[in-house]
Amino acid sequence: MYLKKILNQRHTLAFRLTLWYAAIFAILSFGAFLAFYLIISSVIQRNTDQELLNDLSEFSSIMSVRGYDSFESEMKIEAESDGVDKVFFRLLSPKGETLASSNMSSWRNVGTSRIALKRLRNGADHAFETLAIPEHPDRARVLYGIIGHGKILQIGKSLKDDRQFLEIFREVFSTIMVVLMLFSALIGWVMARQAMSGVEEVTRTAMDISKGAFEQRVSIRDRGDEINRLATAFNVMLDRIDVLVTGMREMTDNMAHDLRSPVTRIRGVAEMALTTGKSMDEYEAMAANTIEECDRLLEMVNTMLDISETEAGASKPLMVKTDIAELVRVVCELFQPTAEKNNVALISGISDNSFVYGNIQALQRMVVNLLDNAFKYTPSGGTVTVSLKGNEGQIVISVSNTGIGISQDDLPHIFKRFYRCDQSRSQAGIGLGLSLAQAIAKAHGGNISAASNPGQGTKFMVTLPQF
Ligand code: ADP
Repeated sequence: MYLKKILNQRHTLAFRLTLWYAAIFAILSFGAFLAFYLIISSVIQRNTDQELLNDLSEFSSIMSVRGYDSFESEMKIEAESDGVDKVFFRLLSPKGETLASSNMSSWRNVGTSRIALKRLRNGADHAFETLAIPEHPDRARVLYGIIGHGKILQIGKSLKDDRQFLEIFREVFSTIMVVLMLFSALIGWVMARQAMSGVEEVTRTAMDISKGAFEQRVSIRDRGDEINRLATAFNVMLDRIDVLVTGMREMTDNMAHDLRSPVTRIRGVAEMALTTGKSMDEYEAMAANTIEECDRLLEMVNTMLDISETEAGASKPLMVKTDIAELVRVVCELFQPTAEKNNVALISGISDNSFVYGNIQALQRMVVNLLDNAFKYTPSGGTVTVSLKGNEGQIVISVSNTGIGISQDDLPHIFKRFYRCDQSRSQAGIGLGLSLAQAIAKAHGGNISAASNPGQGTKFMVTLPQF
């Protein structure tokens, strides 16, 4: 069980980050160790060489000041005091034959280097070599130096102490490195887990939401880091989705509701035609009724599609420089007969030559919808006022009417699809006119707003960017 859990961790980002930390730490530590080790080895060798050179100069002065006999006995005494297995002294002829030596019992197989002797013959003061000595576990550092009357002093020193020191150094360093690596991997793991905990919380919330807990949100901690920003963006996205889903649900509910009545009516008419024997005139009336209901359904579906297309910007309509003042004036003229028929005064104040960049048909539809509503909801004897003004780079079209107005409760919803205020249910309409008008205004870079005094009247204001 635990093993499975641990094995599963190996695919996590935290695990991979930890591996990276540990690997980088190991490589850097090993590099540092290698550099340190090489420096220490070379310092140790330089010290050994310096000791050998000091011995050479000491014996050289003994030879020249105190003579050969004293030199020979000093050679033996010095080897005994340092340890005959650690150091040896040998006096050689220029050809390399042994003339005198300290106790060589531990250095029996040590010969002379022809290369070193040649270097001395060629004029060098001294020459070094590192020797592997047969049947001896440690190597030796050997110095050859000229010492009075063309004789050569060979001094050898065992590198046993140096080897032991470097061995201890290697052991201590490897142990420290293993401990540090485990420690750094542990710290890396804890840090990576902590950094990833926010991501895990977002993932958990997303999983819960996918199971139906739509109200869940990621808790935001006051850290201001990337995870916090991710959580905030995630929550904002969820809120937005929530609004969209609720909107869509409302819309489909309304649509189903609005489709049911005409479909039921069509069915009723068809049923009547089937069950009761009627005259030709009645059949014709029933057919006309059916066509009317079908037209209503088609209008609803087509307007829905128009709104969706306009909002999504899917179909790119022809956009041209449009004289919006002229367009509004023409629409007002079209509504003049309605105004007379309804006994409503139509007052217009439209400033000349106001241009916008837009699609003429869409803009016409938007203004027609607003005027259509204004006349629908203005009782006989009332007034519809249309005005158009240019103001700071904006064209403002206002359509106001006297009449029932819209209650403060209804006002925020009137631009939603299929929304109809209760008081206007008696009027013909499908509740899509304002949604389409708003979609068109927004598609032209503008907006639309409404203000109302219930019982007195309503005012719609469209703003569009001036061309
Ligand atoms: P409808 O087809 O019902 O007119 P709209 O989307 O055009 O649909 O309007 C939505 C609702 O807003 C209407 O049902 C109506 O209640 C209200 N409304 C729109 N314009 C006016 C207005 N000028 N005066 C009063 N109420 C209005």
